[in-house]
Amino acid sequence: MCSFRIGQGMDVHRTALGRKLVLGGVMIECGFGLLGHSDADVLCHAITDALLGSLALGDIGTHFPDTDPAYKGADSTVLLKEAYGLVREKGYGIVNLDCTVVTEQPKLKPYVPQIQNRIAELLSLDAECVSIKAKTAERLGAVGEGRAMEAYCTVLVAKDGTLRR
Ligand code: MG
Repeated sequence: MCSFRIGQGMDVHRTALGRKLVLGGVMIECGFGLLGHSDADVLCHAITDALLGSLALGDIGTHFPDTDPAYKGADSTVLLKEAYGLVREKGYGIVNLDCTVVTEQPKLKPYVPQIQNRIAELLSLDAECVSIKAKTAERLGAVGEGRAMEAYCTVLVAKDGTLRR
């Protein structure tokens, strides 16, 4: 297999009152959250899918089915770490991650450094290897109307020994 592989992931969750909002493993107080079988951490899910995709290991639904009671209310950071464990088992490590979260509310800018540090910590990376960007959808579509939140991630992984760190 090639020394470098690229993966992309995206996820979308509906917003809901009475749910907690967790993004990249960081709890955000904002009066609403996201619906899902797990904790609905849309950013962790996008990163998990990107990691699995980088080595053609399937997707988050294959590895952690939302029909499995074991994953009800699951902490998505645990699933993220498990997915990266599969990548590590194949002898690859992350070069960098670039993520975008799309939502109208809340304004995520103040939380970006905390999310960046949390993701870096979860994956044992330097913070400069983790990019977190926040955008709105210009009030267009389900995300723009506040009915959903989306996240995207692109990841580059390299075979162990390829890079001098
Ligand atoms: Mg999801």
